Amino acid sequence: MSRLGVHSKRLNLKTQGESEILDITEKVSAVVKGSGLKSGIACVFTPGSTCAVTTTEYEPGLLSDIPAALERIAPKNIQYRHDEKWGDGNGHSHVRSALLGPSITIPFDEGRLNLGTWQQIVFVELDVRPRQREVIVKVIGEP
Ligand code: ZN
Repeated sequence: MSRLGVHSKRLNLKTQGESEILDITEKVSAVVKGSGLKSGIACVFTPGSTCAVTTTEYEPGLLSDIPAALERIAPKNIQYRHDEKWGDGNGHSHVRSALLGPSITIPFDEGRLNLGTWQQIVFVELDVRPRQREVIVKVIGEP
């Protein structure tokens, strides 16, 4: 067994506001290639509780279906205890974020992510205003 290598990089993203979904597949792939590692896993994590990282087919239908589904699951216009306490009006953003999750882990071989043909890595902005965001990509694998 060869020695494991570790490589990490922070991506900076600027979002326009609620329900914006950004395709970050190319950026994550570049980090994996840049790591020089051949086989392993890449963890893609965002340090925030009003946003999420997941995968989807990046096409206009789903870019509108996903926010619509989130609106049915955690509607904006109901009462949230979070808003009573903090008054920042984003209780629904936190709940949606908790459901989607802050990270995903993707295996890779020959320096290429094992994603499906119609599967892109996406960052989902769930907060009610534009934000400056960070995504940490941590790559662990064999050289
Ligand atoms: Zn809040």
